[in-house]
Amino acid sequence: MRTKIKELLLATPESQEVTVKGWVRTKRGNKSIAFIAINDGSVVHNIQVVVDVPNFDEETLKKITTGACLRVEGTLVESKGSGQPVEVLAKEIEIYGGADNTYPLQKKGHSLEFLREIAHLRPRTNTFGAVLRIRNAMSFAIHKYFNERGYCYIHTPIITGSDCEGAGEMFNVTTLDINNAPKNEEGKVDYTKDFFGKPCSLTVSGQLEGELAAMALGSIYTFGPTFRAENSNTPRHLAEFWMIEPEIAFFDIIDNMDLAEDFLKYLVRYALDNCMSDIEFLNKMFDKELIERLNFVVENDFKRLTYTEAIDILVSSGHKFEFPVSWGTDLQSEHERYLVENHFKRPVILIDYPKEIKSFYMKLNEDGKTVRAMDVLFPKIGEIIGGSEREADYDKLMKSIEEKHIPHKDVWWYIDTRKFGSAPHSGFGLGFERLLLFVTGMANIRDVIPFPRSPKNADF
Ligand code: ATP
Ligand code: MN
Repeated sequence: MRTKIKELLLATPESQEVTVKGWVRTKRGNKSIAFIAINDGSVVHNIQVVVDVPNFDEETLKKITTGACLRVEGTLVESKGSGQPVEVLAKEIEIYGGADNTYPLQKKGHSLEFLREIAHLRPRTNTFGAVLRIRNAMSFAIHKYFNERGYCYIHTPIITGSDCEGAGEMFNVTTLDINNAPKNEEGKVDYTKDFFGKPCSLTVSGQLEGELAAMALGSIYTFGPTFRAENSNTPRHLAEFWMIEPEIAFFDIIDNMDLAEDFLKYLVRYALDNCMSDIEFLNKMFDKELIERLNFVVENDFKRLTYTEAIDILVSSGHKFEFPVSWGTDLQSEHERYLVENHFKRPVILIDYPKEIKSFYMKLNEDGKTVRAMDVLFPKIGEIIGGSEREADYDKLMKSIEEKHIPHKDVWWYIDTRKFGSAPHSGFGLGFERLLLFVTGMANIRDVIPFPRSPKNADF
């Protein structure tokens, strides 16, 4: 039975027999002694294996190169070196798989850009090991948070027949041969011959179906993949990303803001409490202010204000923005970050946006001009959460649907919830990879998901 390196590094060394299995990071030494650093992915640190060279077969030792996978039997002793508490004195070594000098992760210090080109091997780097362990811990923490508060996890569909959410461009799902698609009398593609009998796409959000469930189960959340065919090559957008979407009956916009703030603080605190060795590594390697920023978010209240107040601040700031800003314009990331990083110097929650720039389902305010939208803005990221109180009034919802030219056939089922036992309710969407950008301090969203999907890139 192997012991994971994470456990070995915490064990009291008493010359006990141990088995280590993992991948060689480095090997150094001379004719009499060799030191092999092995990593098994359980923790960012390696364990040092010490080899008494004359006692081992030369051919075997030659095959122990960076990237090779080994089984080592030996005794766990206190380390004589200063780099680690314990080390393994090897008695027997088996090579599961060698790696010759074409293994791309030879030297240390590859650029993140290069590592993206070898996404099949980058989990073997310290950086991606750390990111993927944090990603795992955050997934678990999300389920834990909602589970402990009585939320029901709902699986919303990935293939959708409605194109009304307006959250972004969609990917088509079809089994028709695009080179030889059947045509109707008007010469257009005849989707009645397609698999679903109508045009379908990959979902951009599970919210609308989430609302249906909230109107029965009270408090629900979704956590699944979403897809946007937006041709935006930014460090904050992916074509395939994961989203967490709670939806809660009897919640107004204030409750919604309270939940978003509590949830984000819980997740950041969970990371600090459970992922510290990985966070420390990332802090040292990529972002010297990471730990400070994480602590700051946990300890301080988010600033809450209206869109209108935010516009006043931006306009009177005198700051030269790339995109000019005035009441009615959608905020760009540079505006969001100005508010968070320069003006308030803390996370910000903006509410009450102009109805024209927001989705049809958001609750209309009494001014008739703004809706109860809510965006949470974070340092270095900009928007991390988008949400709203939903329009619960049948007539107002119908008017909004009309104004936004949404076909009735796409939303009749959604409208039914306002016809039968409507209730005030609210919810939001947290982009999982945006959260991970914040928690890991990584600068590019392609580096917080194992296999990123972005324009012109679907390898691996
Ligand atoms: P943005 O303005 O940043 O493009 P959005 O307003 O289109 O985002 P929403 O539709 O409100 O985003 O989606 C909810 C959340 O999902 C966002 O707050 C963000 O965290 C995340 N998100 C949106 N689009 C993407 C994307 N392309 N890649 C990764 N995360 C995304
Ligand atoms: Mn948004």
